[in-house]
Amino acid sequence: TREIHLASRPDGWPTEANFAVVDRDLPAPADGQALVRNVYMSVDPYMRPRMNDVKSYVPPFQVGEPLDGGAIGEVVESRVDGLAPGDLVLHRLGWREHALVDRPRRLEPIEGVPVSHYLGALGSTGLTAYVGLLEMASMREGDTVFVSGAAGAVGSIAGQIARLRGAARVVGSAGSAEKVALLTDKLGFDAAFDYRDGDLYRQLAAAAPDGIDVYFDNVGGDHLEAAITAMNDYGRVALCGSISQYNQAKPPPGPRNIGLAVGKRLTLRGFIVSDHASRFPEMARELGAWLAAGDLVAEETVVDGGLDAAVDAFLGMLRGANTGKMVVRMP
Ligand code: NDP
Repeated sequence: TREIHLASRPDGWPTEANFAVVDRDLPAPADGQALVRNVYMSVDPYMRPRMNDVKSYVPPFQVGEPLDGGAIGEVVESRVDGLAPGDLVLHRLGWREHALVDRPRRLEPIEGVPVSHYLGALGSTGLTAYVGLLEMASMREGDTVFVSGAAGAVGSIAGQIARLRGAARVVGSAGSAEKVALLTDKLGFDAAFDYRDGDLYRQLAAAAPDGIDVYFDNVGGDHLEAAITAMNDYGRVALCGSISQYNQAKPPPGPRNIGLAVGKRLTLRGFIVSDHASRFPEMARELGAWLAAGDLVAEETVVDGGLDAAVDAFLGMLRGANTGKMVVRMP
C-alpha cells in the first residue's frame, strides 16, 4: 500500500517537495484491529501547523513518518467483534490507501446522506461550528454574528447555525465574489463581503451597521482586529483558528487594538473541539435533523484522484480552492 510522509519541514508556504509518497507492506490485523481501505480522507488547516516542529495541543508530524488525519475506511479484514468486511469506519489514519485501525468506530450511514459528511457537517468541522458558536461564544437569539472564513467547512456551518438559532443578523467574509454570492444566495447569510477587496473595517461596518455581538474567528490577524473594533459591549469572540497566519514564517504581532476589549468588556475564548467529545452525539443529532429537514446546507468540495491528488488538495484548501468541506475521494 502507499502513504504520504512528511519529507521536510516547510518555512512559510509548503510545497510538493515537503511531502513524499512511500510504498509499504502492512501486517495482518491483530486482535482488536481491522484492515481498512480508505474511501475518503480529510484535508484540514490544522495539518499545516503540525508540519512545524512546535509544541501544541496535538503533536507535530515527524519527518520521515506518515501524516495522519480524519478518514473513512471500508473494512477489508476484521478481527473486531461485530465488524465485518464492507462495514465503514471513521478513524484518524488518513493520508494512506490502507490502514490498520485499532478499536475502530463503526459508522452507520444515514439513507440519503453522503458518508463524506461525517468528515464535515456531521463530523469534526460541523461540531467545531456548533461548539464555537453556541458554547464558546454563547450566541443568543437576537445577536448579530460575524463569521470569517464563512464559505469554508467550519464557517459555512457556523453561519447557518446562527440563523437557525435565531440570530438577528448573520454576516460573513470570504475570499472571492463567487463565495460571497454563495453565502447570501444559498446559505442564508444576511450580508457578506470579499476580504480581498480590502478595508475590512469599512466593509464590516457596512455589513453590520449596528455592530456585532458575536465573532466566530477562523482567520485571526486583520479579521480579528476589524471584529474587535466592530464589537458591541459585552461581545463574545470564539477563537477557532487563525488560518491567515499558518503559512507566515513570522506571524505579525497583534491584534493592535486589543486594548478596546477592556472598555467593551469583551470575552475572547479559545477552544479545541475534541475537548467536547462527550456532547458530540447530541450535537450531531441536532445537526443531522437540520440537514434532513433541508434547513442546513452541507457544502463540500470533493477532489478525485486519491492519494496522488491529496497534497495538491491540501495546498489548494490553504489557498481557498474549496467551498465548504474539502475531502479527497480515494479510487
Ligand atoms: P476551510 O474549509 O475554511 O478552509 C480554509 C479556508 O481558509 C480557505 O478556503 C480560504 O478561504 C481561507 N483562507 C486562507 N487563507 C486566508 C487568509 N489569509 N485570510 C482569510 N481566509 C483565508 O477550513 P476549516 O473550516 O476546516 O477550518 C477553518 C478554521 O477553523 C481554521 O482556522 C482551522 O484551523 C479552524 N479549526 C479549529 C478547530 C478547533 O477545534 N479549534 C477545529 C477545526 C478547524 P477564502 O477563499 O475565503 O480565503
